Amino acid sequence: MESGKLFRHNRQAILSEVGLEGQKRLTSAKVLCVGAGGLGCPALLYLAAAGVGKLGIVDSDRVEVTNLQRQILFKTMDQDRVKVDAAKDRLLDLDPNLEIETFPDRLTLANATQIFKGYDLVIDGTDNFGTKFLINDVAAQLDIPVVFGSATGFEAQISVFWAKHGPCYRCVYPAPPKTRIANCAESGVIGALTGTVGSLQAMEAIKLILGGTGNKEFSPLIGRLLVMDLRNAAISTFQIEKKFDCPICSTNSKAKFFKDDYLDGCSLSIESNINEMTSQELEHALATLSDIQLIDVRETCELERGFIPGSFNAPLSLLEREIPDFIDSDRLLVTYCQKGQRSLRAATLLMSKGVKRVFSLKGGINAWQGDLLIPEDPPRAST
Ligand SMILES: [Zn+2]
Repeated sequence: MESGKLFRHNRQAILSEVGLEGQKRLTSAKVLCVGAGGLGCPALLYLAAAGVGKLGIVDSDRVEVTNLQRQILFKTMDQDRVKVDAAKDRLLDLDPNLEIETFPDRLTLANATQIFKGYDLVIDGTDNFGTKFLINDVAAQLDIPVVFGSATGFEAQISVFWAKHGPCYRCVYPAPPKTRIANCAESGVIGALTGTVGSLQAMEAIKLILGGTGNKEFSPLIGRLLVMDLRNAAISTFQIEKKFDCPICSTNSKAKFFKDDYLDGCSLSIESNINEMTSQELEHALATLSDIQLIDVRETCELERGFIPGSFNAPLSLLEREIPDFIDSDRLLVTYCQKGQRSLRAATLLMSKGVKRVFSLKGGINAWQGDLLIPEDPPRAST
């Protein structure tokens, strides 16, 4: 170990639980972080600072100004940059000796196994159920531990899921909830909460990496769920059991992957047959075709951020229950939302109800280059 490096990590290497042997383990560890958001940013920063030799980052988003309140890898001037590129630059600024591998992609059933294979451990920094189930199922097949985290508002959960040594995510949550809108729509969160969770995830990862030394002082959160409500600083841990009927852990279960469970998240655009339209293509279509019906599938409260003139509002949560009468299935339907994920699900739903011609606006309102109406007048509405 070079002396410069030793000096850099001196304050942790002098701990008896770490030592030179532990520092070597950190240097040779390979950790993959899925999601460079509120959880991934602090987790990556602390893992990089601790000298974890190789870090992988999976995220298909670009930096937006609304990320900066909690995604502490990014600066104001990083706006519109691909997140994984901005994250890599920041982490190499911190320590140029690190190896950073970037995947500017959505995690899908098609790419997850290949990406995971190069890593010892996965940090779940995602905010949607679909990807959490996908991470769990793929990691279980490859025998890779997952440091799980979730944070909403002031509340959070953290655990380590490692199917060979304890329960997996599906032992706690067997399948995605029926109503999935809450995790797709943008919900509020305090940056200090995601920072706390991401830091704890980094800590769990470091413990797992050091634990290989046979160090008995560490007990990672395997088989335990840490739950916190920071409104009143209440933090507790609960035992969680491996379930004999878990679809992953049960020895009777033949299926190892459950395609439909991954759909609300990052796999949808790849797995489905929905056509996407770019902002430019939609502008062209609106200028040249007369039978387009635009359907804004965001929740009504989100329309204050602006909507495309002439749109109808049919929130995804409504579409999941019924197809409203004002949707004209004889027309060419174009669904859109804020980022282009919910609109894919809405388009899939409409197709499953027999609509023949439906497109989803790629990248949603965030990518829309044309006119926007900021409502005093909400779009012709739904109920
Ligand atoms: Zn399980």
